[in-house]
Amino acid sequence: MSPAVALVPMGQVPGMTLKVIAGNIAGCLDLVVDILPGVPLHQTAFHPSRDQYNAAVIIEYLESMENIAHGKILGILGVDLFLPIFTHVFGDARMGGRAGAMSLFRLSRRPNENPLKISASEMLRPENLAMERGAKVALHEIGHLFSLIHCSDPECVMHFSGGIDHLDRLPLYFCKSCLRKLHAAFSASA
Ligand SMILES: [Zn+2]
Ligand SMILES: [Zn+2]
Repeated sequence: MSPAVALVPMGQVPGMTLKVIAGNIAGCLDLVVDILPGVPLHQTAFHPSRDQYNAAVIIEYLESMENIAHGKILGILGVDLFLPIFTHVFGDARMGGRAGAMSLFRLSRRPNENPLKISASEMLRPENLAMERGAKVALHEIGHLFSLIHCSDPECVMHFSGGIDHLDRLPLYFCKSCLRKLHAAFSASA
């Protein structure tokens, strides 16, 4: 029996994006993934002068949710997330821990906002682009929850990505080495 992952939508989150993220985690990693009923945005995490939510506070809140039986919990938010040392983050997760959080807020944007410079390959529908990017961020954070560190292989979703253009260059899968480590972690936690 593989370990189970709970996706917790917090605030307004498109249902189709949740399903795409769940499907990618389940398909890529053979994990049981459940989409739990949504919870309101945790307002203690809101930082008024930044107009953003603190990812670390959201993660602590998810870790404190007692009625979730799943081994790993990923909160999915539509609002912008930050960590004190970063202007914004796509996601964050407790290394080898139980909970992580990710934001869809910046994922609909095109890498190049100038419409005259958008190439044909960049003419993807923004909502489709956001779903693919969301699935990558989710896989990456799930990797951290199973103790994976950043990978030096640019053909691996565990490679560090500092911005949307970099995220777009990452594949929607793990390299062989990370996949091996993940499966070892699954057997250890099953
Ligand atoms: Zn990371
Ligand atoms: Zn890797």
